[in-house]
This record gives sequence, C-alpha cells and structure tokens, in this order.
Amino acid sequence: MTATLMDGQTLSRQLLDDTAGRAAAFARAHRRRPCLATVLVGDDPASHTYVRMKVNRCAAVGIESRRVDLPSETTTEQLVRVLRDLSDDRQVDGILLQHPTPAQIDERAAFEAIAVDKDVDGVTGGSFAAMAFGEPGFVSCTPAGIMRLLDAYEVPLRGRRAVVVGRSAILGKPAGMLLLARDATVTYCHSRTIDLASHVAEADVVVAAVGRPELVRGEWIKPGAVVVDAGYNPGNVGDVEFEAAAARASLITPVPGGVGPMTIAVLLSQTVDAAEAHA
Ligand code: NAP
Repeated sequence: MTATLMDGQTLSRQLLDDTAGRAAAFARAHRRRPCLATVLVGDDPASHTYVRMKVNRCAAVGIESRRVDLPSETTTEQLVRVLRDLSDDRQVDGILLQHPTPAQIDERAAFEAIAVDKDVDGVTGGSFAAMAFGEPGFVSCTPAGIMRLLDAYEVPLRGRRAVVVGRSAILGKPAGMLLLARDATVTYCHSRTIDLASHVAEADVVVAAVGRPELVRGEWIKPGAVVVDAGYNPGNVGDVEFEAAAARASLITPVPGGVGPMTIAVLLSQTVDAAEAHA
C-alpha cells in the first residue's frame, strides 16, 4: 500500500472532544445540557444499533438525548405529529429521524416536519437550500464529515476534478455541492452512468457513496488521487476495492474508521451549534 490513511477515528475524536467542551460550557451557562431527540420507527436491527451508538455518544460528550421509539406500523401522519411536537419543544435542540423509515412512511414529508433550526442531521429542504446557496445552516452530516477529512489532510480542491459516485439527497448530491462550493470541477456518476471507470479515472478526488461493495475498482484510480469511501456494506466492506485503490491513491479513507466516525461527530457538533443558537 502506498496511500496514507485518512484517519477518521482520530479526527472524529478531536471533534468530539471539542464538542464535549462546548457542551459543558453550554450546560454551565444555561443550567441544562444541549438535547438531541432521536426518532426511530420500527425494529430494523441496524437502525437500532445506529440510534444506540448516537445515544451513547451523546452521553459521552454531555449531550442529553431524548429517545422516541415508534412501532413499525406508525403512519406518516403520526410521525409528522411527533416531529412537529419535538420541533415545538423548547427543551429539544436537535432532531434526528433515523433513516430508512418503514415503506408506508412518506419519508420526505416526515423530514420536512423537522424545524430547520433543529435539523442537525441536515435532511430538510430548507437546510439543503441553505447549503446550495452557501448560506449558514446545518449540513448533511456525512458530506460535512467528508469535507472535514479533506480539509484536515489539506487536500487541494480548487480547480481539481472531483467525481462523486452516487447522488442521494443526503450523501452524494450534497457532497458534490460542497466540493463545487470549494471550486472543484464536479462530475456526478450514478446507476445510469455509461462507463463509470473512465469518469473515475479522470478524478483527482473520488467520493464513493453507492452502497455496492467494492464497486469502484482499484485499477480505475488515477495515480496520486484522493479516495474517500463513504460506503458501508455488510462485513465492513466499503464501495472501493481498498487494497488495489490504496496502491495507487495518495490518500484513502479506510472502512471502517474513515468517513463513518465523522458522521456522528458532526451530528453532535451541530447539536451543540443548535443549542447555542437557541440560547
Ligand atoms: P442510496 O440512497 O441507495 O444511493 C445510492 C446511489 O448510488 C444512488 O445515487 C445510485 O444511483 C448510485 N448507484 C447505485 N448503483 C450504482 C452503480 N452500479 N453505479 C453507479 N452508481 C450507482 O445510498 P446512500 O444513502 O447515499 O448511501 C450510500 C452508501 O453510503 C451506503 O453504503 C451507505 O451505507 C453509506 N452511508 C454511510 C454513512 C456513514 O455514516 N458513513 C452515512 C450514510 C450512508 P441512482 O440515483 O441512479 O439510483
């Protein structure tokens, strides 16, 4: 392997330490801790694990969590009501709706029931628009974590070619827009892209956000490129063929320990941002 690892574990720990300091200062000043509400619908084991991890991390950094678990048969209307009530609750600073929700839920309607000033996961149209216009607001946590990693490793972006594989509203699309805002020349690839390999081969920075194990082959990577693998597939496998890509890249994120830990750290940091703004 020739690439240097982009160590999301260490970087996220620094962000969590900083967040813990800010949470403690907030609690001293306001006699309450910042509070994150987590809303989970149904009994998907992976979603339960993710929520539990977030709640545990909250406790570790001094953020109170309000856990709301709803049954699988919850309707969109019921979920919207819960999210509106949390949006109106002055003791709650941030709201996270765990994704994916069960099939009967109109997930977009549910996300839009979250007040923009509590949208610490960056999932509402309002937050997305603010990000697109370069206005202040909460940014979707995984793309924001990716940008922090690129900055920590001083990856030059201006004028560089960035290829984002994946265009989901919470990950690929905002990741590309954040890179564009930093003057990268951005190409989006997706399931209908013809000749994915030729696009990836042009990239100075590759962001893989697909959810297909090792879809991005190592031999496609331009020598010296920076590779960010946001994918997380069963068996701790990313969306990039790691060993072969690491032999060509200059910097690469491991899976696990790259993008993943940054996501929760950004979520908690944004929760304290929200609490400070509310105060
Ligand atoms: P998603 O909503 O399923 O979107 C996947 C994207 O990949 C879509 O845009 C899809 O294209 C594209 N795609 C699918 N097959 C493709 C192919 N063969 N070639 C090129 N593009 C293809 O997934 P997501 O929520 O963005 O998540 C993507 C990955 O990131 C998953 O592994 C997920 O577990 C991981 N993730 C990690 C974190 C973290 O904290 N580290 C957070 C969120 C997600 P179309 O739009 O054309 O369908």
